[in-house]
Amino acid sequence: MNDHTGDAHLQEYRLKARRWLAENVQRREAVSTKKYINERVERLDEFKALQQKLYEAGYAGFTFPVEYGGQGLTLEHERVFNAEAGRYDMPQVNFGVSINIIGATLIAFGTHEQKLAHVPDILAGRKLWLQFFSEPSGGSDLAGLLTSANRDGDVFIVNGQKTWSSSAHLSDFALCPVRTRWDVPKHKGISVLIIDLKSPGIDFRRIKQIDGNAEFSEEFFTDVIVPAGNLVGEENQGWRVARGLLEFEHAWVGRGGASTSFEEQAAALASLVRSKGLAEDKGVRRQVVAMHVAATVQGLVSARISDAMADGKLPHGYGGLLKLGDDIVIQRRAELALALAGADGVTWGSGDPHAGDWSFQLLNSRRVSIAGGTDEIQRNNVSERVLGLPREPAVDRDIPFNQVPHN
Ligand SMILES: Cc1cc2nc3c(=O)[nH]c(=O)nc-3n(C[C@H](O)[C@H](O)[C@H](O)COP(=O)(O)OP(=O)(O)OC[C@H]3O[C@@H](n4cnc5c(N)ncnc54)[C@H](O)[C@@H]3O)c2cc1C
Repeated sequence: MNDHTGDAHLQEYRLKARRWLAENVQRREAVSTKKYINERVERLDEFKALQQKLYEAGYAGFTFPVEYGGQGLTLEHERVFNAEAGRYDMPQVNFGVSINIIGATLIAFGTHEQKLAHVPDILAGRKLWLQFFSEPSGGSDLAGLLTSANRDGDVFIVNGQKTWSSSAHLSDFALCPVRTRWDVPKHKGISVLIIDLKSPGIDFRRIKQIDGNAEFSEEFFTDVIVPAGNLVGEENQGWRVARGLLEFEHAWVGRGGASTSFEEQAAALASLVRSKGLAEDKGVRRQVVAMHVAATVQGLVSARISDAMADGKLPHGYGGLLKLGDDIVIQRRAELALALAGADGVTWGSGDPHAGDWSFQLLNSRRVSIAGGTDEIQRNNVSERVLGLPREPAVDRDIPFNQVPHN
């Protein structure tokens, strides 16, 4: 180990982070998943101010280059900080996507100018970003997207529709794959554009959900003008960028980045067991411990694989494995919790702020197995990219996209 990652250095870093958190961020009691997700909207301004403070103190963009506002550190530093921050009232629910998915993609594929223009704003929480990937014709077959962009001199003109865009109503920019060529196979005619959400010609419509929230939008683009300088990566080579973005997303979700902390989840389950008077029940204890072991193993495997990917020792395709592991743990925990909670777990809207949280978690566990690519798609990724099994058969992979029947 060198000075930068040695035990003594990390211990010093941990103590410094602990002091900073104690002085600057409020501690909080265990928070329900429902509240955690809803806070994205309710406390946005407050969290933006805190993210700015974190950025100024050097606790944002741990692995990003210093040149673009990052810290030039390692994932180990990020883990150390996150472990310390676990029980603090942190704003990561708002900025996780912008930083770990979009920011990481811009760092990997953007031009120097794009990184300078956007990455510091992303890290400081001044601008929120999202991805415009899914379309009504399907999200899994991303390469089959239909939204088009025609190059006209220094601009692209975008027409089409995206959907399931998370928090679009709160966001400032999106990374948007579009079709720029129709006469080549589907993976070879895609480009990725930065879209300013204030651009004329974008019609946003919120999608109302069964739980009463409306966190998604669909967007209709009519002759939206995007400067050619907003092209990320090469024209028609955007599949690499889009895949890269998904790999960053899978790796971040697989590191547990999108959830409440591991400690909070374990504490919530233990408190449920006690509140139901089941703490001495041997069968329940066995199930809770098995759950804890599975979550711990997932955390350790995830740390090991993430480090190996960051060091270039494993291909980024392993991110799908991490995401799949995280999804399975979240689903198993939600199913166990609901079984333990019994009838109390399904009361909904009774006025008790915690009522319905376990059933909410069960519903949420289904979201995580869809968002960012479904579990079925991750299984395909793992079989093809990690295990080297034969590729899934596809009839449209090698023929020009304008000859593929759509819908
Ligand atoms: C919480 C949440 C947040 C999201 N946020 C965003 C966002 O911000 N931006 C965005 O662009 N999208 C977002 N999405 C959309 C998400 O990316 C898509 O829902 C997802 O990729 C699946 O696409 P689809 O819903 O069109 O399902 P489809 O692609 O139509 O798939 C339907 C079913 O068929 C299965 N299937 C499809 N192809 C295969 C195959 N080859 N092999 C095996 N099974 C297959 C799928 O697993 C799925 O079960 C979000 C979704 C959720 C739930």
